[in-house]
Amino acid sequence: MKRELAEAARDLAAYIRTLDEDLAGPPRPGAAGPKPAPLAVPAPAAAPVPPRPVQDIPDMDALAGQVKACRKCGLGYARLNAVFGVGSRKARVVFVGEGPGFQEDHRGEPFVGRSGQLLDKILETVLGLKRSDVYIANIVKCHPMKDPENPEAHGNDRPPTPEEMSACRPYLEEQLRFIKPACIVTLGSVPTKVLLNTDKGISVMRGHWYDYPAELFGPGGRIKVLPTYHPAALLRNPNLKRDTWEDMKMLKAFLETGKISGQD
Ligand code: SF4
Repeated sequence: MKRELAEAARDLAAYIRTLDEDLAGPPRPGAAGPKPAPLAVPAPAAAPVPPRPVQDIPDMDALAGQVKACRKCGLGYARLNAVFGVGSRKARVVFVGEGPGFQEDHRGEPFVGRSGQLLDKILETVLGLKRSDVYIANIVKCHPMKDPENPEAHGNDRPPTPEEMSACRPYLEEQLRFIKPACIVTLGSVPTKVLLNTDKGISVMRGHWYDYPAELFGPGGRIKVLPTYHPAALLRNPNLKRDTWEDMKMLKAFLETGKISGQD
């Protein structure tokens, strides 16, 4: 009993620290406050307790609040804004990238830089959809930086580590449980490998439908997954646009018919 009381007191103290940090807002460069943790270094012992298990979260707003307060990995100490996700919470398709970059960190919204503008254009021209018709999120909700002490630096992006993705992935899965989409489009190699548990590259995986490897919302609650190139890859190599257009046409046919071409 004594031990349980001591643990409860420790959790309460940590929760109060979380509230203090929220009221103070996210740390800014040069501002007083918690220092960003170095890359891949676990959160310090004095960090707030991990969030409650996501299964306890009643709705998306509560989940967004939990992500905003999250410090489960070092990225939570360096970010300017947690980037939860954007779009329709009743979307039939969820687009998933790997993590926020500089622009996203500053605006708190995924895919808002040049890549995001291209994604919007693809949605509109191929699918006839607006950003608000779909849902867009990332595997990690906070900006992975090479130099976490310098969030104002350009060219500071890096891919999330496996540990960071593992820490953050439950939030994405909970988003999917709330939205219950018919399908996911993974944008690029990283989310494709993580969500489909494969080591194959995007050029091999794209152009085919897969089943998400877990039933996220009850028996039969499988989500179809269609990998395609990340818009940033199209900006670097316009030759990839043709394949991406083909992938989006597959998506359009699925959204219109509920069926995958060649399958009943
Ligand atoms: S990246 Fe995810 S797990 Fe890590 S601090 Fe941000 S919200 Fe939490």
